[in-house]
Amino acid sequence: MRQNELFVKTRREAPKDEESINAQLLIRAGFVDKLMAGVYTFLPLGWRVFQKIENIIREEMEGLGGQEILMPSLQPKLNWEKTGRWDNYDSLFKFTSFYTKTEYAMGPTHEEIISPLLAKFVSSYKDLPKYVFQIQNKFRDEARAKSGLLRGREFFMKDLYSFHRDEADMEKYYEKAKKSYLRIFNKVGIGKFTYLTYASGGTFSKYSHEFQTITPAGEDMIYICDKCKIAINKEIINEQNSCPNCGNKNLREKKAIEVGNIFKLKTKYSAPFDLKYKDEAGIEKEVIMGCYGMGLNRLMGAIVEIFHDEKGIVWPESVAPYKVHLLSLGGKGNIKKFADKIYKNLQKSGTEVLYDNREASIGEKFNDADLIGLPHRLVVSEKTGNKIEVKKRVEEKTRLVNEKELLKII
Ligand code: ATP
Ligand code: MG
Repeated sequence: MRQNELFVKTRREAPKDEESINAQLLIRAGFVDKLMAGVYTFLPLGWRVFQKIENIIREEMEGLGGQEILMPSLQPKLNWEKTGRWDNYDSLFKFTSFYTKTEYAMGPTHEEIISPLLAKFVSSYKDLPKYVFQIQNKFRDEARAKSGLLRGREFFMKDLYSFHRDEADMEKYYEKAKKSYLRIFNKVGIGKFTYLTYASGGTFSKYSHEFQTITPAGEDMIYICDKCKIAINKEIINEQNSCPNCGNKNLREKKAIEVGNIFKLKTKYSAPFDLKYKDEAGIEKEVIMGCYGMGLNRLMGAIVEIFHDEKGIVWPESVAPYKVHLLSLGGKGNIKKFADKIYKNLQKSGTEVLYDNREASIGEKFNDADLIGLPHRLVVSEKTGNKIEVKKRVEEKTRLVNEKELLKII
């Protein structure tokens, strides 16, 4: 991508009302635009990051046997009444049709849609198990949307739902999903900072599990057991004061943000929607469900909260919008020709490259490269002659290489 063709420009300052580091940096670097509190547009660079995260998640979900669908955001009141959540779901956005006076919800989650959907197709034990997921935008009337991408009022979630004949089968799948979640966090670069935590299971299960990423921007407090490499949520700590795995009482308190959540729903949503199957003996039973959520905006925000410095973002290679940032310092003549040639050759070799060919000052180009935060910076200038200066975003040291060597290291 030639940077002079991008319709988005970097900004010296983020909006004054934006408190969070992730949104400040993402707005200044031109990855997102703020429409209003908790609602953001993904701009070209930001959308590339989003899609990289999305593809990592999708690949794992397919590995879990998940079938991808897309459910509507616009949802009928009746479904929410059936589960009792029309009046009990705090952050449900509701509105009334001007013409028919019918009431609707904007989906904050999709148990109320997926359960009746599966009831149309599942009738026998032979139809189970099934795994269905989507990556879709959710709407929640959040009281405090001040954490940038970490807490939106409109945001993308991956939600997977599993359907089983009995709890044993659900438990097995639940354990597989746990491992898959940990692989996702490793792949997007935050594995080292992310803990499986024991959280409240509500009324129908002792524990549920969350995945919490340590960051000062987090809204939760977790208690880490260094022996088990897991953590415990505050509500559990208040009850038992020790690690549920090994009994260790020596726990480290840290601020964290919930990036994922897995839950044994059992029959909570199958019952109200008559989601049943007949077993081998023809006896009718309720389907056992599990659900597995993960926030994509929140993941992107958490990555920025962890990987930045005073100059800007420092993207992990797996989710960076481009792998290299090529800077041409010198708008015309031989330097431009040389830079153009390198740009073309990098593209030919399949390297994702952002080419700063703008007519801008050297300082501006360097500052923007640090702010945007691509993993490798390449500079072509009068000083570098017929060589290219290579620098990693995470390092200070630079080195000069010729074109052949460049293609080898990139
Ligand atoms: P929180 O306690 O942070 O409000 P939650 O328990 O409401 O989260 P779930 O309903 O389990 O979250 O949603 C699944 C996932 O969706 C969460 O793990 C998180 O990654 C993401 N998520 C939830 N709410 C938001 C939000 N307002 N903005 C961005 N992502 C969100
Ligand atoms: Mg919530």
